[in-house]
Amino acid sequence: MALDRVAGGVWLLRGDFRGAMNIYFIEDGDGVVQFDAGTKSMRKKAAEAARELGGLKRIVLGHAHADHRGTAPYLGAPVFCHPDEVTDAEGDKAVTPYFNLSLLPVAPVRWIYPLLLRWWDGGAVKVNGTVSEGDEVAGFKVLHFPGHAPGLIGLWRESDRVALVSDTVYLVDSARLKPLPHGEASVPHPAFAWNHQEAKRSVRRLAELEPLVVATGHEEPLRGDNLRPVLEAAAEKF
Ligand SMILES: [Zn+2]
Repeated sequence: MALDRVAGGVWLLRGDFRGAMNIYFIEDGDGVVQFDAGTKSMRKKAAEAARELGGLKRIVLGHAHADHRGTAPYLGAPVFCHPDEVTDAEGDKAVTPYFNLSLLPVAPVRWIYPLLLRWWDGGAVKVNGTVSEGDEVAGFKVLHFPGHAPGLIGLWRESDRVALVSDTVYLVDSARLKPLPHGEASVPHPAFAWNHQEAKRSVRRLAELEPLVVATGHEEPLRGDNLRPVLEAAAEKF
């Protein structure tokens, strides 16, 4: 099983579209917690990875978008998310109701997203419990980063300044379906925002943490001794 080691006790499974869909596994006692659930097509590999790492204790969703909840119904583990994501996680819509795809500038990208989101989605998820700002998950602290989704959460470990942030910040140009130039980041495109101003504030909050590793929902983690200016610039992209 090809897993990338992100930090102590943290592994990354990459899959689906260009290998850019990320699922993280965090050591928790004799098993692992899965952070984010990727796309439906990743379900077999996710199950295999969790088994190899000692067994899946629970799944924590960074947020409930189709490409982040895809494997959750298939892995037989209890699912947790932020209280503000429960409705969308348990809903059956692959295209999240507040998306405004008409804001996407490239017509074919505008047309293909509903198809991609339906392909990626694993359907409605049964949520077994919630986690909120300040809660602990496998040695990480839950941080609320609303904006791209109302209940988007990240996980923060102060000791080695590792942040797992789901879609708080993008390393992809989602309006053109391609990666950003290496070392660049961006607030998610407003087409995918629940509240774009809050999304910008959440990226600024992440910048203030001065992380050394920002492990995102898509593409390889961003690393560096001075990510604050990169993230501050990211908040201003849209
Ligand atoms: Zn998202």
